[in-house]
Amino acid sequence: MKRTTGTDRSITRTWRPATQAVRAGTWRSEQGETSEAIFMTSGYAYDDAETAAARFRGEDPGMTYSRLQNPTVAMLEERIALMDGAEACRVQSSGMAAMTAALLCQLSQGDHVVAAKAAFGSCRWLVDQLFPRFGIEGTTIDAWDNAQWEAAIRPNTKVFFFETPANPTMDIVDMKFVCDLARRHGIVTVVDNAFATPALQRPIEWGADVVAYSATKLMDGQGRVLAGAVSGSAEFINDKLLPFQRNTGPNLSPFNAWVVLKGLETLGLRVKRQSENSLLVGKFLDGRVPRINHPGLASHPQHNLAVQQMDACGSIFSFEVEDRAQAFALLNALSLIDISNNIGDSRSLMCHNASTTHYSVSAEAREEMGVREGMLRLNVGLEDPRDLIEDLDQALKAAGL
Ligand SMILES: *Cc1c(COP(=O)(O)O)cnc(C)c1O
Repeated sequence: MKRTTGTDRSITRTWRPATQAVRAGTWRSEQGETSEAIFMTSGYAYDDAETAAARFRGEDPGMTYSRLQNPTVAMLEERIALMDGAEACRVQSSGMAAMTAALLCQLSQGDHVVAAKAAFGSCRWLVDQLFPRFGIEGTTIDAWDNAQWEAAIRPNTKVFFFETPANPTMDIVDMKFVCDLARRHGIVTVVDNAFATPALQRPIEWGADVVAYSATKLMDGQGRVLAGAVSGSAEFINDKLLPFQRNTGPNLSPFNAWVVLKGLETLGLRVKRQSENSLLVGKFLDGRVPRINHPGLASHPQHNLAVQQMDACGSIFSFEVEDRAQAFALLNALSLIDISNNIGDSRSLMCHNASTTHYSVSAEAREEMGVREGMLRLNVGLEDPRDLIEDLDQALKAAGL
């Protein structure tokens, strides 16, 4: 393996984001391949026993076992770290593996977590169901309300955990306020940046300590693989996350890492176009449906904050019709947009969250996080927005809207 300019931080750090997304982290084998090689190997052979021993002592830089290191995976990690403006990154087998590792690697019995009420269903499950079994207490709050963060702090509060924008209510969290508050109290902030990606929002620039991703969504961007990532300081990644990850094994396959590497090359283009399409579709729906939660529209309560924190509004938003029956009628009348709970895809996809992504969350928790019975979430893809609007128009009419 040869270092290329893609692995020299003194050079890659000065590259602009579009260049980093295409080239950062690239290593080349002796073949000089232009597209990154996929190293589908679980182990590595050593020239002699002394080299093996030196590698395990950490004195020889080579790799030992793919749960610990893999060249294709390392390329992806280097690229995401640079795109995030972070010192280091590690990738995992899914977004939930990333969230679980980012939180559990630093939490112990007796610790307290403050988390956003509005969150991906499984992120709520971690805080509400898993952590209490291990003596980790959680408080969930309305994360858009700065005062609630302050009021929830206890002497044993260790972590703040939130998404912005949040899935699927599209709440926006004031990252500068919340991260500053956390820092003053010695609390670590973990931001789930799946909806924005580093192409639209870099939480570390707003003071976040740890950024976690479902790379399944916009980073892959074409609905092919599950993947996750966690970025942060070298100290956090090496001292907290790595021991947890290497010994519990939520590793990303080299093939899936390669797919995400290819996805990142077009991330900036896709999210820019998908954000434009999403805004056009959102404007069409604004006024036509009883309620719309779209950070790109002036009707969103935190529209100004969204504009400050994000370079564009992203591909995803939610809206509300009267009730579940009307939501189902609308979904069933779609002819182009698919009924699917995935997001971030280049295809437009719509789902009814209360009966799918948030089905496993209790009815009371759904109510308090604002996932109402008439809510639908739409991921706007790369299709021509006029075709999407025509499809929505006929489906709305069919549903009586
Ligand atoms: C999808 C999603 C996750 C979980 O990611 P997976 O890759 O499905 O495990 C976590 N957080 C948010 C905000 C998501 O949208």
